[in-house]
Amino acid sequence: FSTARAVQLSLGIAIEPWLQYGLPLVLAFTAVVLALGLADRMLTFRQERDIAQEHAERDWLTGVMNRGGIEHRLDWAILNTRREQLPLSLLFLDLDDFKQVNDHWGHAIGDELLCHLTRLLSQFFPDAMIARFGGEEFALMVPHCPVPVLLKRLEGLRQQLRQQPLSREVPLFVRASFGVIKVGRLSMDEALSEADRQLYQAKNTGRDKIVCQDA
Ligand code: GH3
Ligand code: MG
Ligand code: MG
Repeated sequence: FSTARAVQLSLGIAIEPWLQYGLPLVLAFTAVVLALGLADRMLTFRQERDIAQEHAERDWLTGVMNRGGIEHRLDWAILNTRREQLPLSLLFLDLDDFKQVNDHWGHAIGDELLCHLTRLLSQFFPDAMIARFGGEEFALMVPHCPVPVLLKRLEGLRQQLRQQPLSREVPLFVRASFGVIKVGRLSMDEALSEADRQLYQAKNTGRDKIVCQDA
């Protein structure tokens, strides 16, 4: 239609009704199709971006968040709980002698143990944000739970790990070390390194124990 209109104008001939009414109609139709097409593409890109972000913040094996995921949320959670003056604790957990589990039972059972541990963590701490920090190390952000209550639940988890086998077929008992801190007025980086310090104190003073800055 545009070409026909250009030819008609350059030759100086009279405009036909089909061209006179057809051109604006076609342009309007094109604009609608383009707008709808672009909106659809934008929607698809946004959905793909959200899925990619979700994947980037998830641990592929256990399905919980990865380190980036929890660090991304910890900053916000610290500000939020501080404003509302609610307790927020940070907990680090590292399985003891996990390398031996892999060496003795194989990598697949090691993986199964990590998934089993994740399920236990969400049973014992349903309100917590759980992340696999790397290897056999996990971090939990536990909001609105006073430290004594958290320590009691944690002791329950520690005992269950020691006393319940992985499954009927795999009589594997594990131990873990825990470091707990009350976030209080600490910044995110301070909280992470303090929780790490408590965990390494648990490791260096015999393992299979909970070390808490307050206790
Ligand atoms: P410690 O008590 O000092 O924590 O000793 P450890 O053996 O638990 O720790 P170490 O850092 O020596 O070994 C960690 C092991 O975790 C080594 C590595 O092969 C294993 N590991 C890391 N990621 C995975 C995983 O995704 N699956 C399995 N099955 N093993 C993993
Ligand atoms: Mg370990
Ligand atoms: Mg480790």
